[in-house]
Amino acid sequence: MSLPDGDGVDDVHRLHDRPAPNDYPERLQCAGTLVVPELPEMEAWRRALDDPVSAFPIVKAGPAHVATLKTYDPPLSTLEGRRLEGARRRAKRLLFPTDDGELVVLVHLMTAGRLRYLRFGEAGPKTPAFQLVFEGGSRLVLTEAGAKKRAGVWLLTPEAAEEELAHLGPEALGLGAERLGEICAEESRRLHSLLRDQRLVAGIGRAWANEILHRARLSPYALSPDLTPAEVERLAEAIDAELERGLELRERGTGDKKTYRVHDKLGTPCYVCGTPIARVDFEEHTIYYCPECQTGGRVLKDRRLSRLLR
Ligand SMILES: [Zn+2]
Repeated sequence: MSLPDGDGVDDVHRLHDRPAPNDYPERLQCAGTLVVPELPEMEAWRRALDDPVSAFPIVKAGPAHVATLKTYDPPLSTLEGRRLEGARRRAKRLLFPTDDGELVVLVHLMTAGRLRYLRFGEAGPKTPAFQLVFEGGSRLVLTEAGAKKRAGVWLLTPEAAEEELAHLGPEALGLGAERLGEICAEESRRLHSLLRDQRLVAGIGRAWANEILHRARLSPYALSPDLTPAEVERLAEAIDAELERGLELRERGTGDKKTYRVHDKLGTPCYVCGTPIARVDFEEHTIYYCPECQTGGRVLKDRRLSRLLR
């Protein structure tokens, strides 16, 4: 069993053009855009789901799409009659432990999966990728836009869940300059790539990496061991400030357009200096940055993986 973090997927930009699927809660849904969930988005969802999922015991677990449910032992029916303790989060994953401490439902939405809590009688998808029905008829449903089923649900013992999450680095929010400095020194990586590596720092994807590096006034191509202590400090502060800003906005239901200030903003004036935001292709990713604030006026060159391999 492995849990890819969803960042290697290059169809995010195409997905942006599609209408949003049915999200829970509604206030996290924004017309015309698909929010790609990273730490702020997942934490906003976790907070919204925490109370409703623990209100009533589960009466029916499933059905589950064969590609979505990643485990078969214990069977889903083991959940029936149990109550969830609430919603927890680790990196970009949601965890729903049972209140008897015996089982954990682990959900990874990847880029296109969505969880929605439906009250009794509320219309939902005809064929959810996964569903839990609670006493009284409310439901937790997982849907996924597009034909490819990438989102996953695992039913695990707490020990197996811990093992499944063991490869993840420390949570990005609240990481601190000291720990970040160690990570930067241990691994020589370009900053944009380091921030997105879930084994090093957990919870950040491409969108928030763009926002964080802009706020820290650091080049996405800068190599991590080259950072001065002052720059590490600035980066640590930017991680917290941007993720907290994102969480606050997502909890209020703000859409991508108003949440992001750099990500996906090619050509719009930088909110600090007014220089048009630039874009560069790096490996499989598209990076957005301000040439004035972040790279001393230099325009970064494309480093597409396909070109590097040629
Ligand atoms: Zn700028």
